Parts: sequence; structure tokens; C-alpha cells
Amino acid sequence: MSHEIRTPMNSIIGFSDLLKKDDLALETKHKYLNIIDGNSKQLVNLVDDIIDVSKIESNNLKIITENFKISETLIDLEVMFNQLKLDENKSSIIFKAHVPEDCKHLTIKSDGLRIRQLLANLLSNALKFSVQGTISFGFKKAESDLIFYVKDQGIGISPDNITGIFERFKQVNTGVSKNKGTGLGLSICKGIVHLLGGEISVQSTLNVGSVFTFNIPFEEVYPLKSKNIEHKNEIQSFKGITVLLADDDSFIQLYFKEIMKLWEVNILVADNGEIAVEMYKNFPGIALVLMDLRMPIMDGFKATAEILKFDPKAKILAQTADLTGIEKVKIMKIGCKEYLTKPIQKEQLLTVFQKWV
Ligand code: ADP
Repeated sequence: MSHEIRTPMNSIIGFSDLLKKDDLALETKHKYLNIIDGNSKQLVNLVDDIIDVSKIESNNLKIITENFKISETLIDLEVMFNQLKLDENKSSIIFKAHVPEDCKHLTIKSDGLRIRQLLANLLSNALKFSVQGTISFGFKKAESDLIFYVKDQGIGISPDNITGIFERFKQVNTGVSKNKGTGLGLSICKGIVHLLGGEISVQSTLNVGSVFTFNIPFEEVYPLKSKNIEHKNEIQSFKGITVLLADDDSFIQLYFKEIMKLWEVNILVADNGEIAVEMYKNFPGIALVLMDLRMPIMDGFKATAEILKFDPKAKILAQTADLTGIEKVKIMKIGCKEYLTKPIQKEQLLTVFQKWV
């Protein structure tokens, strides 16, 4: 343990010291800062992991149950990891979540945050130990359990090394991937799965890939009937309509695509205001436009004005992360119906759809 803490700590102290020199070139300074940054993050991860391990060991990790829709957790993770892979320069890897057809609306009572943590841990390992291929993950319903899996086409683990893989600090020296992990992730997964009443296991073939599987006993929750029907009807009334999303952020694009897929709404995506105006002119019957205000080439203010010039009845909703008071007035003045503040939640989207579609 002391080695795990000392290594990043020594780098942080050492390179901070080097930074004190006056005559360092800017490039060198950036190099040192990046090293400090990387090691600090590694240290924070380690501290988080150690806290989790000690909570598990001392029986202090509390399971907090809540009702949650499992498909939403999976879709969130799919979006998040398809974004994270870009930071790791692994754009050819595809994360794909699979929700069984009969479980699309499955709501369960369990610890949603811990299940999310488990999947995120396994997904981040899958990313770390893959250079290409698809990382698929999902679950199926067995009698009283949900059986989750995370499958990758990565470097795999040899039979010799697979023994004890769920033990603390077990790391396989692969040489292929620069592993900045803590060697605690899988033991935390094991601890959490046990607390939730399940088991975790792995099957792996060297140079082919790995499948991690865990089961969790679950209790299905049936939402109040009237509310459920009401909610379903609301969403079904959007079925088949077309919305245009103008946003240059690939994360937001993916997020909206996933929600629209769930609601069976067609979505057109424009990377900038200019494309959005063209699309609006070329696709009749667009029910709603979700317009980001800050975009390259043509911003949302100009694009809104152009669309409204073409079709004064267009329903355009502005969406932005930060707005000044003056901008709010400006948005309403140019003819947007209203503005949504990022990050936009599904409930917020449902409310505006009900209002404007
Ligand atoms: P780490 O922080 O090193 O990832 P873990 O406990 O999460 O620690 O994993 C332990 C070891 O198991 C890793 O160092 C790696 O050698 C191996 N491992 C975990 N997941 C995978 C995977 N998906 N593919 C190949 N090897 C894996």
C-alpha cells in the first residue's frame, strides 16, 4: 500500500519542486504540470478506492435502495463512456448497451448508485485493457436476479493470472497497456456485489477478450397504474414526430439521440447554425427545434432568426449552459419559445415536449 501512495506522491512533490526554477521553458513547465495533474488524479482515485475498501471491510458501506429504471442507467453509461474513450484517444472502440425488449421500462428497487459504480468500474477496465472492438454491456432477467455483463474484445487475461483477480492489489503485468489503476477496482466490485447479495465472476481468453458477469437479487417495482399510463400516453403522443437538434457538442448529440430513440421520435442533428437552417428548409414537418446558442460558423441567435424568417411559426427552444440576463431577453425577443438550461434533464425535456408538441 505504501508503494501505491508513494509513487504518485513522489512525482507530485518532485515535479512541483522542479517547477520552482525560474528559467524553465513554457513547454517544459506544461510537461511537468501534466505529470503533476496525472499523478494527482491517480492519487485521488486511490484515496477514493481505499475509502471504499475500508468501508467494505468495516461493514460501513451502506446500501441505499431507491426505485430506478435500469435502462436509464445503462444508456447514461453508454453515452458517458462513448465520450470518455475520446479522451483516451480510443475512438475506434464502441460502447454498446443492451436492454432486453421486455425490460425497457423495468423499474427496480436496489442501490442504483452502487450498480452504476459496478458497471462503471468494469467498463473503465474494459476500456483500459482494449485497443479496439466493441464493449457491450447489459443485463437479463433470471428468476429473482438480474444478471449483468460487461464484455470486451481486449487483451484478455491468461488462465495463470485469472486466479485471485478479485483480490486487492492484484494486477497483471501485461506491458500492453500503461496501467495507472490501483489494483483495487475488482476487489471493490466483489465487495459491493456481495453486499447486494450476488456473486461476480470472469471468463477470459488471452488476446480475445473478457466477460465479467455479476448477479444481483432484485425487486421489481410497479409504478402506480394511473401515473404509469399517463406517462406512457404522453410519450406515445410524440411517437413519429421529428425534432431538429442544433448543437456542436457530440456528447449532447448522443444524449438527445438516446432519449429520442426511447420516445420513438425522429431526430435530425446539425453541428452548427448554418446546417440547422438548411435542414429546417429541406425537411418539412419539423415539430420542434432545440437550438444551442453558442455554435461555430453560425451561432444559435442568427440561425433562429433565419429559420423564423423562413417559417414564422417555427417552434424554437434555445438551450444553453450559461446565460446573461441580456441574452435571456434577446432570446425571447428574436422569437424563441423558451430557453432550457444545460444540463438538460429528461423530465425537463418531457415538460417542454408536452407544452410545445
Ligand atoms: P486496476 O486498477 O489495475 O484496473 P482492478 O482490480 O480493476 O485494478 O483490476 C485488476 C487487474 O485485472 C488489472 O490490473 C488487469 O490486469 C486485470 N483486468 C481487469 N479487467 C480487465 C479486462 N477487462 N481485460 C483484461 N484485464 C483486466
